[in-house]
Amino acid sequence: MPKHKSKNKPIADPANHSDNYWEIKESLEKEGKRLFVQKIFADWCKSCGICVEFCPAGVFEKSKNSIPVIHNPDACTGCRFCEFHCPDFAISIQERYPDRRKKKNGA
Ligand code: SF4
Ligand code: SF4
Repeated sequence: MPKHKSKNKPIADPANHSDNYWEIKESLEKEGKRLFVQKIFADWCKSCGICVEFCPAGVFEKSKNSIPVIHNPDACTGCRFCEFHCPDFAISIQERYPDRRKKKNGA
């Protein structure tokens, strides 16, 4: 079974180029799955927990100081519920286009 079938673990970290990110990404593309980047602006977050509790994909987890951390980025479906419901506009969701970066950087 391919790695990305797991819903509870991050399947790849785009910031960590030592893993098999490109391989996984190509495999996901074949299945028609889109990938998204979640950004949390911690300075604006008031730790209400809405994003952690209501994300349907379980992308976030609460940290010790109650600010959400991104636990499972590849499970994100891009529904943008968190972005629309964050009372402090502290979340941004964007589609991830690693191919574009790959071409530009020649990586
Ligand atoms: S919904 Fe917004 S303010 Fe509330 S915990 Fe999440 S990021 Fe922080
Ligand atoms: S866009 Fe939807 S699936 Fe992605 S982190 Fe936000 S609530 Fe979760």
